[in-house]
Amino acid sequence: MENNLSRSLHWFRNDLRLDDNLALAKSLEYDQVILVYILDEHFWNKDRWGHIKTGTFRTRFLFESIHDLKIEIEKLGGYLMIKQGKPEEILPLIMEEFSCNTLIAQAEHTTEELKTEKLVEDAINKIGGNFNWIEGHTLYHPEDVKILFDKIPDVFTTFRKKIEKHCDVRECISAPKKINCPQSLISDEIPDLAEFLEQSDQKLTPIDYRSSFPFKGGLSKARKRLKYYFWDNNCLSIYKKTRNQLFGQDYSSKFSPWLSNGCISPRRIRSEVKRYENAYKPNQSTYWLVFELIWRDFFKFIAIQHGSRIFHKKGIKRKIVPSNQNKILFEEWKKGETSDAFVNANMRELLNTGYMSNRGRQNAASYLIHDLGIDWRLGASWFEHLLIDYDPSSNVGNWAYIAGVGNDPRQIRKFNTLRQAEIYDRKNQYRNLWNSDIISMNL
Ligand SMILES: Cc1cc2nc3c(=O)[nH]c(=O)nc-3n(C[C@H](O)[C@H](O)[C@H](O)COP(=O)(O)OP(=O)(O)OC[C@H]3O[C@@H](n4cnc5c(N)ncnc54)[C@H](O)[C@@H]3O)c2cc1C
Repeated sequence: MENNLSRSLHWFRNDLRLDDNLALAKSLEYDQVILVYILDEHFWNKDRWGHIKTGTFRTRFLFESIHDLKIEIEKLGGYLMIKQGKPEEILPLIMEEFSCNTLIAQAEHTTEELKTEKLVEDAINKIGGNFNWIEGHTLYHPEDVKILFDKIPDVFTTFRKKIEKHCDVRECISAPKKINCPQSLISDEIPDLAEFLEQSDQKLTPIDYRSSFPFKGGLSKARKRLKYYFWDNNCLSIYKKTRNQLFGQDYSSKFSPWLSNGCISPRRIRSEVKRYENAYKPNQSTYWLVFELIWRDFFKFIAIQHGSRIFHKKGIKRKIVPSNQNKILFEEWKKGETSDAFVNANMRELLNTGYMSNRGRQNAASYLIHDLGIDWRLGASWFEHLLIDYDPSSNVGNWAYIAGVGNDPRQIRKFNTLRQAEIYDRKNQYRNLWNSDIISMNL
């Protein structure tokens, strides 16, 4: 081993990128770095409702993202270790084996992730190592937000107006030009996806050609999508008008899956919006994309403030809401077999692709909660299992919002799904697309 060299261990979590990655930049300040991704077995466990936390769509997207990251790392002379198991067992072993001084990783903010962090901290303390959790998820830096607010307001508009007026978004950090790993290291192979899924009794699902999200995971794919949506096709210039549509690739940005696992940072998206505004001119649509990223931030800061409370049935409002756990009705909703054709179409899209539009999500959630009277947490659990863009704070924040136990100042947010179908699916195209027999193909 090369003596007297300082070494860090960078643990990739939901920061599967090289660009604008402060945790990675800190790791690269050492003479050498060990890079690792861990397929944390906990992600493929069942939750309390019996749903496997990470279904096949998100697992596939994750594998694609790791693959892309590995290629990009190797181009810079580095290597990526890929391990399976428990982070608290694997990380200290690597630190000891490679004499790493410090573990560096992106900070997470929701209960299960924080529990893992605590286990990792305890294990590293035992071997006398150091650890450093670095912020990297949000558009606005948590330290800057903390200065601005004693308490995050419960109402989004109050939060947004103050943050837009008084807080700057920090500059993006460029991707490294070189990665210096120990000479003895080589990258690990990514496990075979089908075999990996079998371990949690899941099967590789065929790709459905009707999907609005035909894209792959990975940092290079995220940048490609951004280039397409902003620069090549100018979809950004009409985003505000199109964002509520239901199908097709271009009505909304589709950034969410890449944002959720960190293939792209919200700051990079915003900086590209600014570049676009300079090249053309700002309009309501360019503003609105950043507005939506502030919604994403808002739910993250709500999660930081309220901790595990956001997952409670009564939510942060501590409000009792009528709810049952009727298994038959719930199963019908999951499969898209309710008496509402619009809800069914959305639920079938989700079941077959792992994606659903924001408008669809609002209607499907409202129907489950307010029409079927079912506990919102069951719906959130099903979304967690299926969504390729699953993000704990955005998922639970939106569900709780619609259930009336979260951040909605209104008492009740019930969507009239029949009326919504008339407005957003006037010609029945979306319902016809998804309520006809399932047609899928293996690619
Ligand atoms: C019940 C329900 C559950 C949801 N679960 C998730 C989830 O697990 N993960 C997730 O990323 N989004 C979730 N959303 C928010 C939203 O539906 C998706 O972010 C959006 O549909 C993703 O598509 P897009 O990237 O094309 O969005 P765009 O319209 O292009 O928006 C750009 C970005 O802004 C952010 N954004 C937009 N709307 C919201 C919102 N309402 N809340 C938080 N962030 C938002 C996303 O990061 C999105 O990628 C949920 C919404 C509902 C109603």
